[in-house]
Formats: sequence, structure tokens, C-alpha cells
Amino acid sequence: MKTNLWLALCLLTPFGLAIGQEAAPAAPAAPVDPRPIVGPGYDDTAMIPGTEWRVHDNRRPHPAIVTPGTDGSAPSDAVVLFDGTDFSHWQGPKGEPTWKLENGYMEVANKGGQIRSKEEFGDCQLHVEWASPNPPKGESQGRGNSGVFLMGCYEIQVLDCYENKTYADGQTASIYGQMPPEVNACRPPGEWQSYDIIFTAPVFKDGKLESPAYITLLHNGVLVHNHVALIGRTAHKNLAKYSPHGPKGPICLQDHGNPVRYRNIWVRPLPPAPPVD
Ligand code: MG
Repeated sequence: MKTNLWLALCLLTPFGLAIGQEAAPAAPAAPVDPRPIVGPGYDDTAMIPGTEWRVHDNRRPHPAIVTPGTDGSAPSDAVVLFDGTDFSHWQGPKGEPTWKLENGYMEVANKGGQIRSKEEFGDCQLHVEWASPNPPKGESQGRGNSGVFLMGCYEIQVLDCYENKTYADGQTASIYGQMPPEVNACRPPGEWQSYDIIFTAPVFKDGKLESPAYITLLHNGVLVHNHVALIGRTAHKNLAKYSPHGPKGPICLQDHGNPVRYRNIWVRPLPPAPPVD
């Protein structure tokens, strides 16, 4: 009976305080997060370092919905630069490109020179499909040479390196003159191949390099560069070095005199990468 009376007193006394003891002043209420709750989650979990969000935060905005493509086709939020039908997104040295356009692809031809996208891009994801001539002609740098230039000045080499040797930092999927691909993932000449490129633009401040360009590249779905820092703009037989430029530039396709084909080119501009502490 005595035990039951003590238990009842404990339950009736706020916060289990002994009778006669004063309660400590209540802690000030935590400010209410004014941001709207956008879905299921929590508002009492730990903050994730470097962010303004909690673990499983119910106020954290949800990513936009994008419908992915199939077999390399463009996702719904991509800028389609070439769908095989026209050159409307491209220009040559003297206006309209004079490359060959047929059967859903464009082909380096007519001494048409390098072509460039009319739109300019900085950080981006770029998908390009290409095929080298079949039967192959030439050797080393003379076999199926072309190139994809980010911002008009950073080349990812296009070359037929299927049973064709050249210098390592100039082979297919190399960052030309700087970094060979980690592996040679070439398909035979004439077969369509793909580049999926994640490009981070260099940043210049007061005329000096603040942050280099970075490239991640998948060649035919195989990772061949993983966030590689570039040492400068592409050069031939010279050490690459940076020269300041704006935050955006065109995507260029090289005319190296070989009838390389391109199709299915799309790009997704990306938000600038968060600064690194
Ligand atoms: Mg080239």
C-alpha cells in the first residue's frame, strides 16, 4: 500500500520533482523553421555538416523530375544539339556547316573545318556518339582523327585506336596531350561509340586560375577518366597551359581531315559545383 501511494505521488508531481522543490526555468523554445514541410521526414535529427539540412529533413526540397532516355537518347531536360536531322544548333567557320548530313548522322567532309555549337556551356554533362571510317585508313594520329572540345579549347580525342597504336596521351578518349584514358575501350572502326562526359569548367579570378577544369569520361560506358584535373587548354607538341576565358564556351567538333561521323549529341548544363573548403 505504501508503495502504491509513493508511485501515485511521483506521477502527480510534475517532472518527478520532490514536493516543495522549485522547477528550473523552462528552456526557451527552439525557433520554428519557417521553411515549408515538403514531404515525409524529420525535423529533430542531426544537422548534416556543411549543409542547412537535417538527416532525412522533411523540409529539404525534392529534385526535379527528369524522364531518362533509353540507349543513350536524351533525357527530358537535355539540350539536344544534334538529332540527325539538321545543323540548326551548329555553325562552321563561315556560317552554315558544310559537313555531310545524311542517314541520321553528320560526317566531317568538304574541308568544312571545325564546327561549333551556337549555344555556350560551362559545367555540363555531354553525350556524343561517333564512328570512325570503315575500312580504316592511315595509322597513328592519321586514323579516324577528330575531337570533342569543351569550351572550344579542351579536347577529348576522337581517334580509331582499335588495333592502331599512337602516343598514349593522344589515343582515343585521351585528354589530348595530358592524360591517357585508364583503358582502351574502343570498338572496331565503323561501329558507333559513345562518350559521356562530365565537365567542370575552370574558374578564373582577376586574370588568374582559381580552379582548374575537371573531366570525368565514360567511353562506351567504361570509366576512363575520373575527375581528372586539366593542366591547361589543349596544345600539340607543347605543354598545355591556361589562359583566362569566360564562364561558358561552345562545344566544338574537330575537322582533322578524316571522315568521322557524329550522331545523337545532347548536353545538360549543370549548376556550378559547390565550393570546396
Ligand atoms: Mg583530334
